[in-house]
Amino acid sequence: MYDKNNVFYKILKSEIPADKIYEDEFVLSFYDIYPKSKIHALVIPKNLYRNFYDFMQRATSYEQNYFFSSIAKIVEILGIEKSGFRLISNTGVDAHQEVDHFHVHILGGAPIG
Ligand code: AMP
Repeated sequence: MYDKNNVFYKILKSEIPADKIYEDEFVLSFYDIYPKSKIHALVIPKNLYRNFYDFMQRATSYEQNYFFSSIAKIVEILGIEKSGFRLISNTGVDAHQEVDHFHVHILGGAPIG
């Protein structure tokens, strides 16, 4: 069950600010507040899913395709499509997922340690 008591839900509802990179009807991207690389962006769907697995179980194929296509678009906005990047989606307890709203990290901008 999705729990609305999480920080990304508050960002979606504009209850707290975010440094936005891209936004449309279905997707929001913003910079991670504690960057772990030169460029550290987050991408979230606007519909409510707990994590990658929940998203793949419950979202429509259209929504899934739209979301992952949007990541490629955001990579281009960030200008790192040629230099390279890493995608991460921590899912659940063993992966130490901190925020229970599905998100993908985009790390890049310089060689990643
Ligand atoms: P995860 O461990 O995959 O759930 O990562 C959650 C990420 O959200 C961490 O990298 C945090 O630095 C980031 N984060 C937490 N609060 C905020 C916020 N208010 N704005 C932007 N990023 C945040």
